[in-house]
Amino acid sequence: MKKYDDIVVGGGISGLTTSLLLAMNRRKVLLLEKNPRIGGALSRFYKGGVPFDTGFHFTGGLNKNGILHNILSVLGIRDLIQPVFLSEGNANCFFFESENRFYEIPYGIKNIKEKLKGYFPGEAAAIDKYFDKVQHVCEQTPSMNLHTLTSHQSHLDEDFITLEEVLNGLTKNPLLKALLSGFAMCYGVKPQEVSFANHSRICLGLYESVARVKDGGTAFIKAFETKFKDYDVEIHCGKYITGLDDIHNRRAGRFILNTGEEVSGENCIFTIHPKEILKILPEKYLSRAFISRIASFESSAGFFSVFTTLDTEYEEPDFDATIVSILPHPDINQLLDPSNKGASALVLIKSIERAGGKTYKTINTFEPSFFEQVEMWKDSKTGKRPESYKDYKRKKVEDIIERIFTVFPKYKDRLRVIDAASVLTFRDYLNNPDGSAYGVKQKIGQYNLIGKLPLRNLYAAGQSSLLPGIIGAMMSSFIIGRSILEEKQYNKFLNQNLCN
Ligand SMILES: Cc1cc2nc3c(=O)[nH]c(=O)nc-3n(C[C@H](O)[C@H](O)[C@H](O)COP(=O)(O)OP(=O)(O)OC[C@H]3O[C@@H](n4cnc5c(N)ncnc54)[C@H](O)[C@@H]3O)c2cc1C
Repeated sequence: MKKYDDIVVGGGISGLTTSLLLAMNRRKVLLLEKNPRIGGALSRFYKGGVPFDTGFHFTGGLNKNGILHNILSVLGIRDLIQPVFLSEGNANCFFFESENRFYEIPYGIKNIKEKLKGYFPGEAAAIDKYFDKVQHVCEQTPSMNLHTLTSHQSHLDEDFITLEEVLNGLTKNPLLKALLSGFAMCYGVKPQEVSFANHSRICLGLYESVARVKDGGTAFIKAFETKFKDYDVEIHCGKYITGLDDIHNRRAGRFILNTGEEVSGENCIFTIHPKEILKILPEKYLSRAFISRIASFESSAGFFSVFTTLDTEYEEPDFDATIVSILPHPDINQLLDPSNKGASALVLIKSIERAGGKTYKTINTFEPSFFEQVEMWKDSKTGKRPESYKDYKRKKVEDIIERIFTVFPKYKDRLRVIDAASVLTFRDYLNNPDGSAYGVKQKIGQYNLIGKLPLRNLYAAGQSSLLPGIIGAMMSSFIIGRSILEEKQYNKFLNQNLCN
């Protein structure tokens, strides 16, 4: 039986980060990934030579000394990741169909405030207060700082008040409220459910800067693969844990894999969906409260996605990498409600991609979507779905494209639909229970799973733990790393690598 210091389950950004962090600290790591390849939601796919992103598209925190910039420095892969900053003046555009009007939101808190005050001159005080509050929350949050992060969240007053309540206290203007809560699409939870604190923690990085990455998620995967070569990390794809054995003093000694192999590890870190973790843990060691807590976890929104390219011969002079959100009206709660029967939000991610010596202009569109909407086909698998499902997808694609043409008539006859994906597609490719984009919701009153599990050498990390998005998933890995390495070694490692 092979022995490892640490077994990491799941090869998405969280599993990759956990593995490298531990291996760089001289630990022998086994990384298990259920899919044939590592990457999870970082993975890209290619159709006709054109690259498309599945999960990761853009991020904050890549500015100098931004949180992601620092994480990549510590892991020694910063030079392997090339940020492509979106244009500062109009990185994010919001188009309200009800108003037939565009609002351009730059990045840089000073720039955003100025722009918003220009749109809403009577709301200057509310705008200042909102951003002061966001910054206050982030300054007071230990997990926003690599030196102080811990799985024991110290709760702030803003953890117990919703984003909606804070906005209602600041302004009556529905459009301003929608613009300040529009980034809810980046975590898939309604303003009336998410705490103001978690909204702030997720959004601060996106307010400071917005960047795509050259070669998308593939750049991260390659960077980790390159770095793993210098350390003791064994990657086994197509493998997962089916059972635990040799449990003494609430510590699991043996891990049984789907291949029949058995391995031992001092620790095992699960970076997968909590409901998938629950399937692996032996029931007799779990309290009823723990089981029902996980069973009751609600998922964030998922997306129906349409992947398109513009005709290569079509020259659009001002085509730039931007994010355009088309909102039928300013009620973000309704747009993120699974029972919403009206038009939903569309988030268009425009990008210039280079592959195989060619340049492509891609527009990928994401509409919030929920498992309930595809539940009737839940027993089908990718590539083998019934006609009724294919009809559902065709109709959705047609409706989405029609709305894009209404807002951007110039794309008529110039936009080619290359592919589409429902939340069932995401469920099957990412091996999660319901295809949600950001795992378990960040919801007031819902205590997500992070850190030690009921068996003491097992840990939970990943996007469902601390905060979603690649930054949240990586931060959760650092929290676990700190716990396993212990504070002294972790701080030494951090100080050595942050100076580089
Ligand atoms: C459509 C969409 C758009 C998004 N856009 C952005 C964005 O622009 N910016 C951003 O920051 N974030 C974005 N996100 C979210 C971001 O991609 C995720 O938060 C992050 O990548 C999650 O990383 P993870 O490692 O926690 O999970 P995952 O990437 O889901 O990785 C988990 C891995 O575990 C594997 N696995 C599952 N079960 C097992 C098992 N039992 N054994 C072994 N392996 C297993 C899976 O196959 C998968 O590879 C988006 C997500 C989606 C779906």
